[in-house]
Amino acid sequence: MSSQQKKDQMPDWSDYRGILVFVEQRDGVAKNVSWQLLGIGKKLADKLDTALMALVIGDNVEHLANEAIYHGADKVYLCEGPELKDYRTQPYSRITLKLIEDAKPEICLFGATGTGRDLAGAIATHVPTGLTADTTQLDVEPSPSRLLMASRPAFGEKLMATILCKNHRPQMATARAGVFEALPRDPERKGEIIRIENPIKNEDIATKVLDFIEKKNEVNLEEAEVIVAGGRGLGAPEGFKLLKELADELGGEVGASRPCVDAGWITHEHQVGQTGHTVRPKLYFAIGISGAVQHTVGMADSDVIVAINKDPDAPIFQFAHYGIVGDLFKIVPNITAQVKKRKAEKSDPTVIKA
Ligand SMILES: Cc1cc2nc3c(=O)[nH]c(=O)nc-3n(C[C@H](O)[C@H](O)[C@H](O)COP(=O)(O)OP(=O)(O)OC[C@H]3O[C@@H](n4cnc5c(N)ncnc54)[C@H](O)[C@@H]3O)c2cc1C
Repeated sequence: MSSQQKKDQMPDWSDYRGILVFVEQRDGVAKNVSWQLLGIGKKLADKLDTALMALVIGDNVEHLANEAIYHGADKVYLCEGPELKDYRTQPYSRITLKLIEDAKPEICLFGATGTGRDLAGAIATHVPTGLTADTTQLDVEPSPSRLLMASRPAFGEKLMATILCKNHRPQMATARAGVFEALPRDPERKGEIIRIENPIKNEDIATKVLDFIEKKNEVNLEEAEVIVAGGRGLGAPEGFKLLKELADELGGEVGASRPCVDAGWITHEHQVGQTGHTVRPKLYFAIGISGAVQHTVGMADSDVIVAINKDPDAPIFQFAHYGIVGDLFKIVPNITAQVKKRKAEKSDPTVIKA
């Protein structure tokens, strides 16, 4: 055997099988990224001819175990208790570690959220195993290697790095929200729910959650169903006021291209694209945005894209389902007024709907 072959030879991991997705929730409401992870998890599981498993931890969260099945899980491990209502590293990681020990998944996936990053990090260092953070592409090599190919932007987002974990199990990754597609919810889908015990007593948990203070006006681009995004075409920070009005009418969030963030017109949490957020809303407005690849990689998978640009040759029109060529300062207030009018008509009982 050559020294290269020896190096490439992997340990026998045949007792590790299946893909485990952590279902993140707050107050019994799951984060969309959990269903997106089940979506990609299902693809990987099918490729490896193995089971897709989910882990639901919380208080009164049995409904989420069912939801996980409707979103593609074959088997759901459910751990409930009042002490698990709010996320805390110690009990959540102990439960997950015990499950990893018992169920031996070959791959574990977490959302790259504050909670997912914390939990995955705590677990990976404890097992110990390899963890690729903030991935944007996931694939697997088929048997016999069954390696997870976890890719993420690297070196200031200029390169994509594909990272393998050859010598440890499970292979772990956190994945960005909005990148992967959830499967359509199928309430007819059947699966198995297995209740598991919390191995740590409440009095042994070192931290207590005294209060949970929701950040006001927090931008939640990844979860937004409508995003009204603006670019350099807005000309000045005031331009975003126009977009905010439209976003508020549609119950959406305001997004932005990078030059607007770099110029200080709006904060980075609004940025869409390679170095910002990856989003997949039902409706994305690209207003005064040219459509550079670094922007479109972050929004091209939106269900419906509407582009407003005065340049008919702007590349954004190649991505748009609906395009309006013209001056945004005329068009956007018009759309906002139309939305307001439609909403008023809808709530006016004297108007007969078509
Ligand atoms: C490593 C790297 C990472 C990057 N990451 C990101 C990223 O995450 N997100 C991102 O967005 N960019 C990113 N960029 C920058 C990207 O390459 C583009 O420069 C940027 O997306 C362009 O922004 P824009 O479309 O707002 O501006 P421009 O390209 O200047 O386009 C402005 C558009 O507005 C139109 N316009 C002007 N006035 C009006 C008007 N009155 N009415 C209607 N239309 C009008 C113009 O026709 C034009 O098409 C990155 C670049 C690099 C090198």
